[in-house]
Amino acid sequence: MNTPLIDPFQRAITYLRVSVTDRCDFRCVYCMSENMTFLPKKELLTLEELDRVSSTFVRMGVRKLRITGGEPLVRKGIMTYFQSMSRHLESGALDELTLTTNGSQLARFADDLVAAGVRRVNVSLDTLDEAKFAEITRWGRLPQVLKGIDAAQSAGLRIKINTVALKGFNEDELFRLTDWCAKRDMDLTFIEVMPMGDIGNENRIGQYWALSDLRGELRKRFTLTELAERTGGPARYVRLEETGQKIGFITPLTHNFCESCNRVRMTCTGELFMCLGQEDRADLRGPLRQSESDAPLDQAIRNAILRKPKGHDFDYSRQKIDGQMSRHMSHTGG
Ligand code: SAM
Ligand code: SF4
Repeated sequence: MNTPLIDPFQRAITYLRVSVTDRCDFRCVYCMSENMTFLPKKELLTLEELDRVSSTFVRMGVRKLRITGGEPLVRKGIMTYFQSMSRHLESGALDELTLTTNGSQLARFADDLVAAGVRRVNVSLDTLDEAKFAEITRWGRLPQVLKGIDAAQSAGLRIKINTVALKGFNEDELFRLTDWCAKRDMDLTFIEVMPMGDIGNENRIGQYWALSDLRGELRKRFTLTELAERTGGPARYVRLEETGQKIGFITPLTHNFCESCNRVRMTCTGELFMCLGQEDRADLRGPLRQSESDAPLDQAIRNAILRKPKGHDFDYSRQKIDGQMSRHMSHTGG
């Protein structure tokens, strides 16, 4: 059965984000607690299972695959999966194979990614200050990431920087980050911090920097032109007229972007989340392992899509976090 996946609100599901591991070589304060307990390896889908389920989605009309985590490039053997997914690019079934990474392993893997057909990469980077970088990622080191970005650009990968907007942390680096991206010809997207998972003692509300305020700051130096570009996701874009740069804003908390949602997310254990902001999920690992035939998996995916909700429940109003998710971003893959 190859009929496209259409949800109850007539949205076609064409974008799958696959988390391939919950592990990471960083411990970003808004994402993980310092002492994370990770899943036992046997809980994870094997590389072959990741291939099978991703390929099933492609057969059902998914045209874009984003690989994420945890840190996708720390999953052992992950290049095998990328190489194998490249067959869908070659056949024309898939438009794009891409990933979101913290950049720490890019120097090792940039060439292999290009060989597998990856053309663009999102790299998460919240600060250009070495000490602050070590503070926010706890275990990360900035020079290693910058080396990774260099390697990726030399290999021909187009880079978009994703920066989580954090009050009192990177407010003062707004123009430094913008200039740095312009100079290196990289796009830049700001993300509002989301209430995900138990991350220890950090105060999430204190970290929240509304992107409407951030835009206001940008306007002090640049002329912002709204762009009509839509990716079916929460990002909205402007062009800075003075530099020609494209800047994105991901604002799940202050904006409702759900009506055009085209995506679903699968965790590394094969749970399918139909919405980032809802707890409802469908188990795909059971049906995947139940039979060599793809029929049970097909059915489980179709049943899940019929449960895709209209929208999410995040709300930061009145300093109270409603709709707070108990799972970590590293689990669903951000
Ligand atoms: N490790 C990879 C990375 O950092 O790019 C991929 C996974 S990470 C969970 C994906 C994205 O989610 C990153 O850009 C990260 O900054 C973002 N993220 C993590 N926790 C977040 C939170 N609580 N609110 C907003 N963004 C978050
Ligand atoms: Fe790791 Fe990415 Fe989470 Fe940072 S945001 S801890 S790099 S998964």
